[in-house]
Order: sequence, then structure tokens, then C-alpha cells
Amino acid sequence: MTFHDFSFNPRLLDGLDAMGFSKPTPIQEQAIPVILSKKDLIGCAQTGTGKTAAYVLPILNNIVASEKRHLNTVIIAPTRELAQQIDQQVEGFAYFLGVSSIAIYGGGDGATWDQQKRAMEGGVDLIIATPGRLIAQIAMGTIKFDHVEHLVLDEADRMLDMGFYEDILRIIKELPATRQTLLFSATMPPKIRALANRILKNPFEINIAISKPAEGILQQAYVVYNEQKEKLIDFLLKEKQYNSVLIFASTKENVKKLDRNLQRLGLNAKAIHSDLEQVERENVLREFKNKKLSILIGTDVLSRGIDVEGIDLVINFDVPPDPEDYIHRIGRTARAATTGTAITFINQLDQRKFFRIESLIGREVPKLVLPEELGEGPTYTPEAKSNAPKTGHSKNSGKRKQWPSKRPDRKPRP
Ligand code: AMP
Repeated sequence: MTFHDFSFNPRLLDGLDAMGFSKPTPIQEQAIPVILSKKDLIGCAQTGTGKTAAYVLPILNNIVASEKRHLNTVIIAPTRELAQQIDQQVEGFAYFLGVSSIAIYGGGDGATWDQQKRAMEGGVDLIIATPGRLIAQIAMGTIKFDHVEHLVLDEADRMLDMGFYEDILRIIKELPATRQTLLFSATMPPKIRALANRILKNPFEINIAISKPAEGILQQAYVVYNEQKEKLIDFLLKEKQYNSVLIFASTKENVKKLDRNLQRLGLNAKAIHSDLEQVERENVLREFKNKKLSILIGTDVLSRGIDVEGIDLVINFDVPPDPEDYIHRIGRTARAATTGTAITFINQLDQRKFFRIESLIGREVPKLVLPEELGEGPTYTPEAKSNAPKTGHSKNSGKRKQWPSKRPDRKPRP
């Protein structure tokens, strides 16, 4: 499935292309059609699953389709950081749409407050707000909610933990009863159910269960240039004695190339890929299981099928596109409560992907220093990579973003 299957506005698809999004994540695949059909939704999903785009994309599609422009959507998030992140994603996707958004949160100075107030008076399509600050703006009478079509509560469990229950109800009182309500939460304790019962109508429910890597896996990563990857494998495999090593690469071509090059380096390695006959594949796998072959190279297909005891090292030659694949890949080691090491090579283009994996597993994977003879690698700056448009600072930080000149005007509407 691709994003083209949702019959989105072509300009929204352009924004997705620019952000480097091609394949929807599971929550996006499931939630987007539900939201497009205007149903209320409960999404049980945590950060890293792509939940933001799951609701932002259908909402933006709806905003561009509507003839009259007015405040269309209110997104409520627990913290300033999350509100800013959501706003940055909205801006990336809305790049070619001429849709305007603003993040409203506390903690700024008087100038920030005035800026938020002015932007709302000028008219925006979408606001992303923390509850306290939104209530303060409501008290000023600056926001007209009459035409709001969508309300999103993001990280609802966290908002309740932070004591925002009453604030949320207070905000909802301002909104039209005809709105569509979308509630996202990483967990579903009874208090979230109670809130959902109170504010959603016959919601559709989506639950994205996240598998977590086993505790016994030591996860590490190297930030490298492509040219350094094979030398690094050579170094790692000669530096320490491993019995059984699995190496994953994302494409068949890379698997084949690695196969040739590692054999040339004198390593006891073989590959499995779809160009081999079934018997050849079985033979290679048998050798690997019997420990005659110490290094097996394959694609993600291998990560789901293979069940071999005693794999003590998994190397991700590149970062898998899907975070779930990362969990499957590294789960090939440290099976049955043993221990194992999983090492991922991250080139410049894969940094954002790896960052997404780190958000999904809820922790940062240590980046090791490259061996001296390999020279220096790139620095790890996943938020600033060029494989997605720069989102810059939030507009109410007072700093200008660096959008290319093609960007449509985002002046407040008269
Ligand atoms: P979220 O769970 O919404 O916080 O998203 C986590 C990260 O995944 C963000 O950096 C998104 O930009 C990224 N992301 C979300 N959906 C996709 C997708 N379909 N393809 C690539 N990256 C994505």
C-alpha cells in the first residue's frame, strides 16, 4: 500500500513526497480511511508509530476540500514540545496546500502571547495547543470555534496524568457538537475509557500493539558513510569471536554484493536471497543452523522466518525502513533469555529512520566511535537531515523558517 491509495489531494501527496514518506505505517493504514469517513476514532498507539500523520493527513485533505476556510481543527497535546512537533509535521505536509496552522503553548514571553493572539485573530485553519494556554486564549475571546470540524486529543493518557481533565472538558464545551473527535493514547486505562465515553460518538477503535526488543539484547549503532560499512564489518568480526552472525540488508542487490565482498575478505559468509533455488536456500540455512557457516546475510524476509538458536550478533547493514522490522531483525539474537548484540549502521540518509526506531522503542541506542583506521563518520543529527524538508522553528518562536520560494503564502486570511 502507498499513500496514493487514499485518493488524497495531489498537492498533499507532493508534501508527503517532500517529507520522504512513501509507505503508510500500520496506524496510518488503518486510521486514515476511518478519519476520511468522518467517524470518531480511538487510536491506541504511542509515539514512533506515525500516529501524528495518521490524523494530520486526512484532516489536511478535508481542509483543502472545504470551500469556506475558517478554524477547522483543534489539536490538543500535553506539552509544548509535542505541540511544536505536531505543528512542524503539519507544516511539512501542508507545504503545497496553503493551509495555516499555529502552535499555542505557554512558557513564552509577552511577545509570543501577542503573536499567538494576532495569528488567531487573523484566522488559521488549524491550532495545536496545550490545554492551559488554550483556555487562557479562550478567556480572551480571540478564538471562534463555531466551524470546528475536528478535535484531536493527542497523548490523552498523559494529559489526564498531568491533571488536564477539567481543562479538556472546558475546551470541548466551546466546540460544535457535530465535530469529529479523534483520541490518541499510548495506554487505555479506565479513566481514558471514561473520557472517551463522554466525548466520542460510536468511535471506531484501532489498537497498534508494539513489540519491544528483548531485554537481553545489547543494542549499539555506528554512524557511518556507506564506504565505511564493509570495512567496519571486517573490523567487528575480526575484533571479537562470534559463533553465529546474521547480517541484514534492505535490498537483494546489497545482500548479493555483501556476500561477494565478505567472502573476498576471507569471512565464512553466505547469503540467502530470492535468486537462489529453494534447495540452495535450504542448504545455506542448514549450514548456518549446524554452525558450519558462521555468517548469514539476508533481507527482512529472513528476519521474520528464521529461528536459529545461538545467534550472538545481528548486524543491520542499513536501517530497516519499518521500525517493526528492526525489532524483528534484532530479535533473532538473544532468543530464549540468552544475550546477544545488535549493531546498526546508520548512514546520513538513514538517520531519520533510526530516530523513528528510537522513538518507537522508547530509548536512545548508543552510537559507538568508529575504529581509528576507518576515519571519522558523519555526526548523528537526525532532525536536521536533508531527506526531509527542514521544518525549522515553530512560527511562534519568532524565527523565520527556511522554506523554498515555491511555498504558497501563508498570510492570515482577511
Ligand atoms: P509519530 O509517531 O507521529 O511521532 O512519528 C514518528 C516519526 O515517524 C516522525 O519523525 C515521522 O516524521 C515519522 N513517520 C511517520 N509516518 C511515516 C511514514 N509513513 N514514513 C516515514 N516516516 C514516517
